[in-house]
This record gives sequence, C-alpha cells and structure tokens, in this order.
Amino acid sequence: MIPFLDLKNINAQYRDELIEACTKVIDSGWYVQGKECHAFEKEFAQYCGTKHAIGVANGLDALTLIIRAYKEMGVMKDGDEVIVPSNTYIASILAISENNLVPILVEPDINTYLLDPKKVEEKITSKTKAIMPVHLYGQTCEMDDINAIAKKYSLKVIEDSAQSHGAYFNEKRSGNLGDASGFSFYPGKNLGALGDAGAVTTNDHELATTIKALANYGSHKKYQNLYKGVNSRLDEMQAAMLRVKLRHLDKETEHRREIAAYYLENIKNPDITLPIQNSKFKIQNYKNHVWHVFVIRTSKRDALQKYLLENGVQSLIHYPIPPHKQEAYKEWADESYPISEQIHAEVLSLPISGIQKQEDTIHIVKLVNSWNKQ
Ligand SMILES: *Cc1c(COP(=O)(O)O)cnc(C)c1O
Repeated sequence: MIPFLDLKNINAQYRDELIEACTKVIDSGWYVQGKECHAFEKEFAQYCGTKHAIGVANGLDALTLIIRAYKEMGVMKDGDEVIVPSNTYIASILAISENNLVPILVEPDINTYLLDPKKVEEKITSKTKAIMPVHLYGQTCEMDDINAIAKKYSLKVIEDSAQSHGAYFNEKRSGNLGDASGFSFYPGKNLGALGDAGAVTTNDHELATTIKALANYGSHKKYQNLYKGVNSRLDEMQAAMLRVKLRHLDKETEHRREIAAYYLENIKNPDITLPIQNSKFKIQNYKNHVWHVFVIRTSKRDALQKYLLENGVQSLIHYPIPPHKQEAYKEWADESYPISEQIHAEVLSLPISGIQKQEDTIHIVKLVNSWNKQ
C-alpha cells in the first residue's frame, strides 16, 4: 500500500536530531516558555521574513488570537464581518465565529481553489473589518489584488497560512503577505510538530505583544492580567522538535515540487482536471506553491478513489463537506455556494510528501492514467 502520508518515516529521517533536541529539553528542567520556544519564534520569524513570530498551541488558536487581539486593540468588535473563502477548512471560519464576528463566505476561483479577489469587493459592507485569504493546498492567493482591496476599504488582511509554510508571493513568503498570519504545525502539515502547535507571524508590534499576553492568561507580566486571556502556548518539547524540522523544510518542499512537476507533466487522462497554478506565476515562478496536497478533480471522484485503493494507493478528500453544509453552521443550510459544492464533490488528493519515492509516484501516475471513468 502506498500511504497518503507516511508520518512515521517522515519523522524517522530526523530521529537522532529529534531525540537530541528532546533530551536537551528533558535535562533543562524547563518545559514551558523557555529558550526553545523563544529560539523557534526567532528562527520562524526570520524564515517568514517578519519582525515577530509568537508560538501558540495550534493553528486554530493562532487565527482566533489574531482576531481576539484586534478586538482588544479596538480594531474589531462583536458583530463585525470577516470575508473568508467558502471552500476553506472549517478552522478558518471557526476562528471568526469564536470571536462573535460574522464569517462572510465568498466563492473561490474554480481553477486555483483560492479566494477570488473579483468576488470580494461586492461582499464588503460597513461592518467588514478583515479579509482572510487562505493559501489553500499550499498555494499563495492573489495578494496584490487582495491587499489593494483591503487598503481601499481600510480592512485588515489575516492570512491563513496553515497549509503554506515557505510559499512565496513574489519576493515575500506566506506569513508576511498581510497584517497577520496564522500557522499550524499539526503533524501532517508541511512543517509538522509531533503533537499540536501553531504560531502567529506579524510585523505589527502592538498586535504581537497583545497576542503574547492573550495566549498567556492575558498576562504581560507575571501575576498581572491585562485581559481575560487564555492558555495557548507552544511548549518547549514541540518548539525544540520544530527547530529541527524547520532546518529541513526547504529540502522537503523541493521534493514535493519535483513530485508535483512529475504529476503535472505525466498525468494524462481526459476525465481528470489537474491543479492549475496561479496564472500570474506559471511554472517559472513555481515557488508560489509548496504542494501541501496535490488535488485533482473528476466528476466520478468516489469511483477513482475506490479504484486507487483497490490498486494499493491511499488518497484523501480535502474536504468532503463544505462549511455551509456542516451541522455546526446550520444557519447557512439554505445558502448556495455552487463552486464550493462542486469542489467538495469532485476533489481528490493524491499522495505527496517530502520522502515519497519516485517509483511510487510513477506507479500512481500509471494507475491514474489507466483509470476509465465509465
Ligand atoms: C490545519 C488547518 C487549520 C487549523 O490548524 P490546527 O493546528 O489543526 O488547529 C486552519 N486552517 C487551515 C486551512 C488548516 O489546514
């Protein structure tokens, strides 16, 4: 069986380094808010090109805390609106509703699966305070257009970078393309911890210090509480392991790009739509994609998934149910987002990772090419 993602062997590559990092933490006697977290924050900020990175407990908290901090700073309030793509992973939307703000869903571009800037402007009202572009599947959104709209209407741009560690838009990296950005280091992400972890990146000093306090019981100084905060911290063990894995991230991303290039060049099946890279970049500027997942599309998706499985290839669906059809958001049950619905009905993610063997990639291509929709 070719697994969708072989996490065990991905981490086994760095076994010695990871054990060394963990041993250092165990022997230090200091497990929360210490040297490793601070060092990782510094290294990750440098990697993204931002002034600040704040380690938090997970990606959902990263996004939630950004909005919460804007509320404490008086930039946003209950009932304000945030524009978000209708096909995103549910966590982007949860971060908005958790703060008592209103998620406004906008249909994505059917070719790139990314927030469509052309559809953003018509959804802006006097209550709109932010746009949340999601660099879904690992590809950065059209940030020039999105930032121009944000500037015109004085909106904040909150990137969801949970799938796009290291992806570029022109000369800047994901995490440095808006006012603030939320990252997830869930084990299956391109930069994955061995447990839950996340971070916020920003160039805004006030936002950074507010988030730091909010994530630590609302405290900026021991036993002094400025806000009714939460406990959302990046522990020393995860930070130490993330420092190891950050050093290998670009190499893993290059391997993903080689697999993606092979898929793009060699999958030839008229029943299958391949991922299309942002038109402004094309292949020569392929650094705008880090291929968190390689997503193909077909009207007989379930049959293809079954065929692959019967032939020893595991594939996944990102994602099977659109947010507006989730029980959690039953208030949206009657709304219609046809592009999003089509995406959720047709997408299938093929295996891709920093360690996938060439022979496996070739085998997957042969299978996909031999599949007959009828
Ligand atoms: C994974 C993910 C999140 C949430 O991250 P967690 O660390 O799992 O909380 C948010 N947004 C997107 C797009 C994601 O893929």
